[in-house]
Amino acid sequence: MAEQLIISVSGLRGIVGENFTAAIAAEYASAFGTFLKRSAAQKKGKLTICIGRDSRPSGLMLCAAVAGGLSSVGIDVIDIGIVTTPAVGVMLRELNCAGGIVITASHNPIEYNGIKLLLDNGMAPPAQSAEKIKQYYFAETFDFVGSADCGKLSNDDRANKIHVEKVCSIIAPEKIAARKFKVVLDSVNGAGGAEGKLLLSKLGCDVIAVNDEPTGDFAHPPEPLAQNLTSLCEAVKEQKAALGFAQDPDADRLAIVDENARYIGEEYTLALAVKHILTKRKGSVATNLSTSRMLDDIAKKAGVRVFRTPVGEANVAAAMLKNNCVIGGEGNGGVIDLRIGPVRDSLVAIALVLEMLAETGKNISKLIDEITPYYMIKDKFGASKEEFERILSNTMDTFATAKIDTTDGCRFDFEDGWLHLRPSNTEPVVRIIAEAKDKKTAEKYIDAIADIRKNMKE
Ligand code: MG
Repeated sequence: MAEQLIISVSGLRGIVGENFTAAIAAEYASAFGTFLKRSAAQKKGKLTICIGRDSRPSGLMLCAAVAGGLSSVGIDVIDIGIVTTPAVGVMLRELNCAGGIVITASHNPIEYNGIKLLLDNGMAPPAQSAEKIKQYYFAETFDFVGSADCGKLSNDDRANKIHVEKVCSIIAPEKIAARKFKVVLDSVNGAGGAEGKLLLSKLGCDVIAVNDEPTGDFAHPPEPLAQNLTSLCEAVKEQKAALGFAQDPDADRLAIVDENARYIGEEYTLALAVKHILTKRKGSVATNLSTSRMLDDIAKKAGVRVFRTPVGEANVAAAMLKNNCVIGGEGNGGVIDLRIGPVRDSLVAIALVLEMLAETGKNISKLIDEITPYYMIKDKFGASKEEFERILSNTMDTFATAKIDTTDGCRFDFEDGWLHLRPSNTEPVVRIIAEAKDKKTAEKYIDAIADIRKNMKE
């Protein structure tokens, strides 16, 4: 079966040349532009949107199409080039834009691309607005303008510099520079290489950049998981580096390799950032329901609260704003600091981790060992909506004494671990995550769901 073009809360994603074409990109941009114009009807003057893209070869074609779609509904466009997703969040506010568009398919392979929409506050549109944009797209509700009123196109190449300056403003660069850390950075030929190198050089690091050319020809599968980062681990070992960093193609996620060339897992990126920030600023933390319990332990020690949200950057960012959180993010290596923007940001994560190393004088493996570990298992299975409801109801009976949270699928919290079942937003599958103090206990929870599914079939 051919894959479907996916239009979800966070934007649109498809396979270029198959289900995702320039025409679709232009119309989707026109729908977004129409939505912004109608929402800003009282305000005078023309609206401006900035567009950034990751390094995929299809990015330029889609950028041109998106710019055309916006211009055709009378919106001025500023093309900020190949940049990280968080840099678009920063620039749209810097340039006083009504919104931003990122052309990226994040960690998906090269054949994919996508369009991510951001409002003037740097956040993805809330569900209701996303629904309206989708309606405009399908109903072809486009407020086209005549020739004289078409939007103008301009360029701005300052994104890297401005983003890096902002990140440096929340840390103490001189403390990090004094340590002259040797760092290997793997940007997987995505958009993060230039900014990553600029930041690390400003922080006085000896940078060994691998896969830093923004060709979109990904040197390895682009999701920053252990199995995809063996070459980074080897480079850290060979270079005797203090640590290694891996970005995903749009550089909103970061994974870390320690000085012993050990991949330490994306969950630790956020755990370290949270632990470090809480030594400086006392305030709440927000994260999604699928993120490790390490955060609860760290927050508890610091005497602050953790707000749990449905999975998705926009949900976490909204909770951070609502509850005045000093730090937040998702367990996939996505750290959010609202002083930079409500977007997951690998540069923020790099800066905070290096500052933590500099201030504690400890190496990264020691900092990891100081965090009580958990064992996490991620799995998925195919299920219709009805099957999922039945599985959930049976699971609730099985674990009747657990603490239950139903804001996104269902999370069961036990004394010795937790289990989260949620239907995917993008695939007809149910994601299942279990975490416990040890492997055996985590497996026990995963097996319990397998048993429930088996019994339902019999
Ligand atoms: Mg990403």
